[in-house]
Amino acid sequence: MKNQNADALLESIFYYMNQLFEKRDFTSTIEILTNLGRTLVQSDRASFWFWDRKSHQYWTLAAVGNERIVVPENTGIVGVTMQENRPVVLNEPYEDSRFNPAVDMETGYRTKSILCIPVTSEHGEMLGAYQALNKQGEDGDCAFDEKDVKRLSLVAVFGAKTLESYLLHNKAFFDQLTGLKNRSGLYEAFHTRILSGQKKTYSIVMGDIDYFKKVNDTYGHNAGDAVLGHVAEVLKESVGLDDETVRWGGEEFILLLCGKDRGQAREVAEEIRRKMLQEVCRYEGQEIRVTMSFGVEEIDEMLSVEENVRRADEKLYEAKKTGRNKVI
Ligand code: GH3
Ligand code: MG
Ligand code: MG
Repeated sequence: MKNQNADALLESIFYYMNQLFEKRDFTSTIEILTNLGRTLVQSDRASFWFWDRKSHQYWTLAAVGNERIVVPENTGIVGVTMQENRPVVLNEPYEDSRFNPAVDMETGYRTKSILCIPVTSEHGEMLGAYQALNKQGEDGDCAFDEKDVKRLSLVAVFGAKTLESYLLHNKAFFDQLTGLKNRSGLYEAFHTRILSGQKKTYSIVMGDIDYFKKVNDTYGHNAGDAVLGHVAEVLKESVGLDDETVRWGGEEFILLLCGKDRGQAREVAEEIRRKMLQEVCRYEGQEIRVTMSFGVEEIDEMLSVEENVRRADEKLYEAKKTGRNKVI
């Protein structure tokens, strides 16, 4: 009986290991690791929690047996684990004042045992936590022990590496102010989409906010930042899911439009230009309006990223020179 259990356990470990090999994307990897952890400690449920410092929340990147859960930071056993930076085992949660039954009330689940361990980066930065619920013994519910802590630590280490590389990738390819892709992000998109030989028409729209220096001078730099965020939102909601929206630098943006020739891209740019006339950015009780100029050019896949951008930039320059608030 014992051997059979060990065999079954080993088999499921290899099953998930194989899955890790096959599916390399972030979401799948975290999901597989979460499942692997659940199997290793024989828990009923498992979840991988991410500490989103920006929104002051914890949310689940993967939750086996649950939809995504979001809770305010510093709450629940996940919060205790992260604050104390050590594994927490609770085999009588309802007897413990640190346990918050609110999530149970919401989900209708009855928590009987908890094992939660911190997930930290290579440099000791707290990234999140891994939580397993309701240890299953041969006769149903039982208690987590030190062996489970060790087993779960194994997947937490893998999870930390995965999460860390994902966060680093995000930092490298996305602009922190607007959340759009940055210059490196555009290069990456260009290489994976266009230079990889996909035979599709693409166009590039380069947009620049008119007289943006004046916005900073009149309303202050923070207001300027708010306007950049606002413009980024308008741009993002004006393009399709297959398109890329990029902050090229300063107050310059690039749209990489998929399946659109020069004429169609021009229409998109014209629509955005008109939208900008209606849009208002509200910042600390002030209403700030800006216009934008655009240069449009179809992508020539024989040319480099720089050459393609330069061609659109020439058109943009012409739009600026001939009066601004226009599309060339
Ligand atoms: P034009 O119509 O010719 O484009 O004029 P402009 O004032 O928009 O262009 P200019 O290149 O003279 O000024 C761009 C300004 O953008 C200067 C710079 O301080 C500001 N800027 C660049 N990056 C940021 C940023 O991240 N935040 C804020 N608030 N301002 C920025
Ligand atoms: Mg400008
Ligand atoms: Mg500029």
